Amino acid sequence: MNAVKYENKKVRTAAIILAGGSGKRMHSDIPKQYMEVCGHPLIYFTLKAFEESIVDDIVLVVNAGDEDMVRAEYVSKYGFKKVAAITAGGKERFNSSANGLKTVEKIEEEHLSDEDTEVIVLIHDAARAMITADVIERTVCDALEYGACAAGVLSKDTVKIADENGFVSETPSRDKVWIVQTPQSFRYGLISKAYEKMFRDGDTSHITDDAMVAEQFSDTKVKLTEGNYENIKVTTPDDLITAEKILSARKGPKPGKG
Ligand code: C5P
Repeated sequence: MNAVKYENKKVRTAAIILAGGSGKRMHSDIPKQYMEVCGHPLIYFTLKAFEESIVDDIVLVVNAGDEDMVRAEYVSKYGFKKVAAITAGGKERFNSSANGLKTVEKIEEEHLSDEDTEVIVLIHDAARAMITADVIERTVCDALEYGACAAGVLSKDTVKIADENGFVSETPSRDKVWIVQTPQSFRYGLISKAYEKMFRDGDTSHITDDAMVAEQFSDTKVKLTEGNYENIKVTTPDDLITAEKILSARKGPKPGKG
């Protein structure tokens, strides 16, 4: 994205793709991000979407000890060129994001120290393999304009908030309920400072996404950016069937047919 400018600044984009964790809910020995769909591991589709998008660099965060295997099996094998680093994740998702941010700081050092460049970091779940270039691009635009954003879609269902005994305590208006996805994208300085503040004096026990870190440890409001209903997080075995349907439909008709 070198040629793109925002308010007379050059724009540099780095995507952190989170592929750590064990994926307990998939009940499989293979972590969900490496399970095969349409003849390829899920992570292939995620990497391909980012490789073909406007992002400049990709930082892949994997379980400690898996770095060499991931480089050989999923990066070199498919010839992905934008993967600038493969780094070890941490115990919780937010530890993996924090490690990814530290790696971005190293690989983008030259751009971060250039006052004329705005560095945008996108944080994305590897398990959201149905991500598309338009959603990636929309989050970059909103991160430039608002500082922090999260892709999401309006809930199609009515949502109820439960009390501690399992009774309805509130029914929020449906036009205000968003199902939040990734990428969640930020100006680098904003999210790295928010993370520093959280680790210094915050409570991390309830943190489930990066937007929460910005919401709670920065002064910037997080913009909700239009995502895509297909951008699901593959979490349980039935999600693999949905992923297979979506990804095979995108491949289009086979050559020589129709
Ligand atoms: O566990 P959850 O579904 O929230 O994971 C979301 C994404 O974060 C997945 O792509 C997973 O690989 C990644 N993750 C990670 N490090 C962890 C836990 C999850 O990179 N400790």
